[in-house]
Formats: sequence, structure tokens, C-alpha cells
Amino acid sequence: MRITIFGSGYVGLVTGACLADVGHDVICVDVDVDKVARLNAGEVPIYEPGLESLIGKNQAAGRLRFTTDSAEGVDFGLLQFIAVGTPSDEDGSADLTHVLKVAETIGNNMNDYRIIVDKSTVPVGTASKVGRAVAASLEKRGRSMAFDVCSNPEFLKEGAALEDFSRGSRIVVGTDSERVKKAMMECYGPYNRQRDKMLFMGIRSAELTKYAANAMLATKISFINEVANLAERLGADVEEVRHGIGSDPRIGYSFIYPGCGYGGSCFPKDVKALAHTAEEAGHPAEMIKAVERVNSRQKGKLFEKLCQAFDGQLADKTIALWGLAFKPNTDDMREAPSRTLMEALWKAGARVQAFDPEAASECHRIYGERDDLVLADNRDEALEGAHALVICTEWKAFRTIDFDQLYKTLLEPVVIDGRNLFSPETVKAAGLSYYAIGRGDSV
Ligand code: NAD
Repeated sequence: MRITIFGSGYVGLVTGACLADVGHDVICVDVDVDKVARLNAGEVPIYEPGLESLIGKNQAAGRLRFTTDSAEGVDFGLLQFIAVGTPSDEDGSADLTHVLKVAETIGNNMNDYRIIVDKSTVPVGTASKVGRAVAASLEKRGRSMAFDVCSNPEFLKEGAALEDFSRGSRIVVGTDSERVKKAMMECYGPYNRQRDKMLFMGIRSAELTKYAANAMLATKISFINEVANLAERLGADVEEVRHGIGSDPRIGYSFIYPGCGYGGSCFPKDVKALAHTAEEAGHPAEMIKAVERVNSRQKGKLFEKLCQAFDGQLADKTIALWGLAFKPNTDDMREAPSRTLMEALWKAGARVQAFDPEAASECHRIYGERDDLVLADNRDEALEGAHALVICTEWKAFRTIDFDQLYKTLLEPVVIDGRNLFSPETVKAAGLSYYAIGRGDSV
């Protein structure tokens, strides 16, 4: 099958590489000239485990190409995937500029029937807007041509994106057209052999499904963080509570890890966008708004705990920070709790010495050269001359620490653990003050 994908970011690249890997012919179109040049030179601009070799293998086999030439892309695929960014607008709504631009491009260049597949996360009603944008472009050209628009939201997680794409729990397609159903079954057939994972539904339901899924997961995180904050005040240990509730199969263990708040490119913007959609629909979604408020507050927790540990005297302190990415196995720092912390520390006059296994160059891209930021090459280097250690991301490499050595290295014996990686007894036995999330200390 010939497939075109607009947008070569996390979703576009993973979709392109995975679909090429099962034998489809794929062209990825992106407006970022530099990105496309790097991809054509065999360099993958993002870190995602396994992606570089999958792209390389399929490029070498001639099934995966990258271009900035959108006319070539529109001409190529029966399926035209839209996988461009939908960032938050100032009012929290999803900014559809890029999505509608692609729709216009398709209308400007198509010469035959096309199926436009919306893979970007977009609010309910966007498929109709995309359809209108394509039709308007065709009309300007004085052309009339059949096309369909369907919704195919993506549920992959960064860090495990290839596994999620190929072995995900479901493939949601919103359409009422038999022709589209047939084409989408052909497209995903190789990933749908073990059991039927295709869930066909109405377009608006598919669009809402993506937001409902992310809002549900974000709700679980904010819920456990709220319980963690209560546990701190009540002298309970949220890790014991987590086991106590997670063992109930109706609740389960997933997504109830307390921490320093969720970040990334999806949960924050999707929760905001859903709240905005609800407001517009005349149904202010109280729960969704609370999820967002709880999370913003949680992202300030690490700074609060540092202030408590240092009696608010953070000026001229050097803070070692382990983990910059919003979660392990990615270099993505969009809305990461580490950013909230670093920015607060800089405001307070502190210096940051940070180490992340993958996100250092992304951090440099965001913040540039600063006197109050050192990007260390390894975790030990980040500790040199530091007054305290803060853990922001639960990379595997941070899970074992020689606490006696850490006690000797740090100028003050302060460890702030934003991911509850250790047992408080072990850390405290080495003479360190240990501040975790919801584990009985009083912040
Ligand atoms: P991204 O920012 O990593 O990539 C978007 C790409 O689109 C960029 O390379 C950009 O240059 C390109 N682009 C912008 N305008 C274009 C145009 N007119 N034509 C061609 N390319 C264009 O974004 P992402 O993280 O891949 O997310 C894409 C969409 O998928 C978003 O709606 C997001 O919410 C959704 N999503 C993301 C994830 C995730 O984990 N990242 C998971 C599920 C869904």
C-alpha cells in the first residue's frame, strides 16, 4: 500500500517506520528542511529506543523516504496521514493551524481520490474542518474530487513507542465509510493478525476517545498525587497506600505512581484542550479542570521541599538534578517537571548541575548557555560541589545509589526524590535527609 505521512515528529516517524516495516511504501513529508536533511543522511532527530535502526533498515530497503515536497507526498499515497503537532493555544484549546495547513496542501495538490487520516490529537469536530479545508482548496482550483476524512488517534507512549504501535491494545478508526474501513484494515492488517484490535466507530467518538483516554490517565496521576499530599500531612506512607489500593483489581497498579507531576507533549495539552472543549459545549468539566490544577501544584513540590530543606535560602546553592526528560527513555522535555524546578531555582539564585542520559542536548536547545546551568556528562559529575540532589526522572540508571558515598559527596546531606525510588530507611541510615513524595515527611 502507498502511504504518505505529514509530520516527521515522534508520531509521524514511528508510524512511518512501523508501516514501512510491514511492507508498505511510505513517504514522510515535513516542512522542517533541516530535519528532513538529517533523516535523509541517516540521522534520527529524536531519541526513541529502536527507532533509528528501524528507520535505517526500511530506508535501505527503499520502503521509507523523507521529503519536503508536499506535492510529491499528496501524489504518492492513497492514505494521507496527518501527524503534525497540535500545541495548546493561549486559551488552552488545541491549535489546529498545522493540521488545517496540511488539509489545504492536500486539497491544493490532489488529483485523485484520497483518504485523509487524522492521527494528530484533535478536538471533536476537526475531521469536518479538515474536510471543509480540503474542499475549499479544491474549489479554488476549480476542481471537484472525491475524498474521505477519518480519525485514527494514536495511543503510543514515548519511550515504548515501537512496542505500542505494533502491539498496542487497540486501533481506533472513526469513519462511516466502507471504503475507508477496507483501506484502514489493509493498512493495519499486519498489526491486526493475533486478534482483532480494530475498533470502528463514529468520527466524533474516535476524536473524543483520544482525549478521554489521556484525561483518564492524567486523572489517575493527579488522584494519587492528591492522596500523597494528604499522606504527608497525615503521617501515612503513600507507597503503602498505593499497594493497598492497587491490589484491588478494580483499581489496578498502573498509573498510580506518586511523583512530581505529569509532563510531556500530550497529557498537559490534552487535558487543557478537553476542558476547553467542555467549556465550549456548555458543560464545564469540573473534574478535568481539577486534574490540571492538582498537576500544576504538584510540579512545584520539589522546589517547595528544597525550600523547606534549606529554610528558603537557596541563593548561591548548587543543586544536582538527575533527570531532565519528562519520563525515562525519551529526550522529550516538553512540560517536564524538571523545567518547573530549574526555572524556580534560577529565580531563587541557585545553580543547577543536571544529568540526563538522553535529554542534555534538548535542554541545551531550550535554555542555551547559562552561568547557572551545567549539563554534566554523568551522574557523579552532576554531584560535584552540589549542596543537594534532586531526582526528577525515574531513569533505570538512577535506581541504585551508594548512599554512604553520596553523603560524603554532597555539601549538605539533602536528597529530594521526586519519584519515590528508595526506601526512606535506607537513605536516612546513611545520614541523609530524604524528602520523597507522600512518605510521611511534613512538606
Ligand atoms: P512533533 O512536534 O514531534 O512533530 C510534528 C512534526 O510536524 C514536526 O516535525 C513539524 O515540523 C511537522 N509539521 C508541522 N507542520 C507541518 C506541515 N504543514 N507539513 C508537514 N509537516 C509539518 O509532534 P508529535 O509529538 O509527533 O505529535 C504529533 C501529534 O500526535 C500531536 O497532535 C500529538 O498530540 C499527537 N500524539 C503525540 C504522542 C506523543 O507521544 N508524542 C502520542 C500520541 C499522539
